[in-house]
Amino acid sequence: MASHVGRRQGVFGHGGRHGGRHGGRVNNAEATDNASVGFPATPPAALRPRVESDGLAEPAYGQNSGAASTEARGRARLSRRRASTPASSTGAGHGRGPSLFGRRHRGETSDSRVLRLTPPVYADIRATVGHAPAESGGPLGGDRSNNTASLFELDSTGRATAASYSPDHQKLNRLFETWNAEGKRLLGFCHSHPRGLRHPSGGDLSYATEIMVMIPSLQTLFLPIVQSDADGGQFEIVPWAAVRGTNGIEIVSAELQIVAPERTTVLAGDSFPLGPAFPLRGPRPPVEMTPRILELYARGNGRPWRGDPEAVVRIVDAYDIPRLASARLIFVGVGGARGLAQDLARAQVMEYALIDPDVVSTSNLATQFASRREIGRAKVECARDDILDIVPDAEVRTFKTGIEGIDAETFEALARSPWRQAVVYDPNQPDDPLSLEPLVPSATILCGFSDSFPAQALVNTLAIAHGLPCLCAQMYRDGRAAEITFTYPGVTRACHRCMLEPRYKAYDTGYHNDVTSAGAPIFSTQRANALTGFVALAMLHHGSTHSRWGNMLGRMGQRSLIQVRMDPDLASSLGMHVFDRVLAGADQERIFFDEAVWLPQEPTPGCPDCADQQIREAQP
Ligand SMILES: [Zn+2]
Ligand SMILES: [Zn+2]
Repeated sequence: MASHVGRRQGVFGHGGRHGGRHGGRVNNAEATDNASVGFPATPPAALRPRVESDGLAEPAYGQNSGAASTEARGRARLSRRRASTPASSTGAGHGRGPSLFGRRHRGETSDSRVLRLTPPVYADIRATVGHAPAESGGPLGGDRSNNTASLFELDSTGRATAASYSPDHQKLNRLFETWNAEGKRLLGFCHSHPRGLRHPSGGDLSYATEIMVMIPSLQTLFLPIVQSDADGGQFEIVPWAAVRGTNGIEIVSAELQIVAPERTTVLAGDSFPLGPAFPLRGPRPPVEMTPRILELYARGNGRPWRGDPEAVVRIVDAYDIPRLASARLIFVGVGGARGLAQDLARAQVMEYALIDPDVVSTSNLATQFASRREIGRAKVECARDDILDIVPDAEVRTFKTGIEGIDAETFEALARSPWRQAVVYDPNQPDDPLSLEPLVPSATILCGFSDSFPAQALVNTLAIAHGLPCLCAQMYRDGRAAEITFTYPGVTRACHRCMLEPRYKAYDTGYHNDVTSAGAPIFSTQRANALTGFVALAMLHHGSTHSRWGNMLGRMGQRSLIQVRMDPDLASSLGMHVFDRVLAGADQERIFFDEAVWLPQEPTPGCPDCADQQIREAQP
């Protein structure tokens, strides 16, 4: 352990890590185990990296086979799939390449190069650095005896530019005092590099060298490099370590392991026995528990997901799966929207209330997602079978009635009541659940997909009365255009009635809509469903940290009336002029077909449906 002298008042003095500049401020400080120390302005010459890089090209580190091979070894533990690709299976590993890489020193065990992350730490890195543009990062803390990091602190006030990340020294030193008091030690720094820069830079080596000079007891300083999905491509942690070599501090490839969580949460369901579907210890699961899938299991924060790992390998980063798996959709009308329900099940949405009085008819074969063997069956039952065929542990409740046939008590239960329970258990004793907890939906969206105006109007008032986000879609005559409207409490201001005021007025004066799906190409329905699905994803992810979807609803803002045209001459065919207005001045050499306009909406003063809500929201 380090010697302890003087008062602890260290500062990580450091700047321009990738540029090889060293603005280290000198502070006299106690050399604690956690490097709450001062650094010389430049490291001793012998310890300097051999190549200073500009942070972008890094020629000495990447353009040779030795580096590539050791890097491949480092990645092997993260993903068997990746390691089996030709590009990364060629490496001979340690013992080759330049001296900065890959040599194992006498007395050093391979285990000393294994960085272990607890699932919460892994999830934390994934959710922060993994979604942020390079460069961001922070220190890893934990137990040095087994290199297990149980602490990660995003250094949100550190100085990050596209080319370098420099810690906020004062904040780090305060943090280390806390860690010291808890017996936790600095294990390394995890930070992101721009896409393609997969290894520590010369600046990183300088920084590691400074720290290791100041903390003689520190044998290994892990420097995992994150490739963030905010920079395109897949999230990845590439493990590296700075170790003490015969010629000074060297960067070597390391291994990364995700350790089993102490406890986790899975769903109770009729179709699965209690306990983990795939034990985290013991027999190997049939599908490799990649860190991302393990993270899904480990997130014991009320958003549990227990599904089929193999079914999500292609979407593991596309959505926040635990969030979708605990979300609920109430479908009013499942005729045209049946394909949408099915596709949301593919995205792992697991709770559905399906409300529709109709049965499948022969004419539906042409314009809806239906097949001949279903003729005469209730549409809600057909849609339920679709969903359960894709996600067997979904909860689907069917009501062969119109929305007006659902009484208030039933609707309240659909809107809010937990339908499923989450089992909290100890993975070491999977037969002994610790507790059962009601699983409250992460979101419930009321969806109006009926072609009945009164039903759609009732959907609007129900959504307002129950404070539910609401998503509606309608088709225009001949399927030449579609309309999608959405409301989300706290985000949008206009209700559906506000948005569709002329339609309400027309119905008030005796208008009757005779538009049915007759004449609508199936492709119009598919088109409308696809965009409706995107809006649903934005609504379901609202408030999450997901890099693509977390802020999408905010991006949409008050543009809550969307119109899609599937006819370039909508003005003459349907008398709809909005596209011509929005696209006035556009290139006349081209035509526009299949585009969507997102129209900003404001509430109608005195709207019979939402005026009370407007008043409430206007009050502070
Ligand atoms: Zn770096
Ligand atoms: Zn309104």
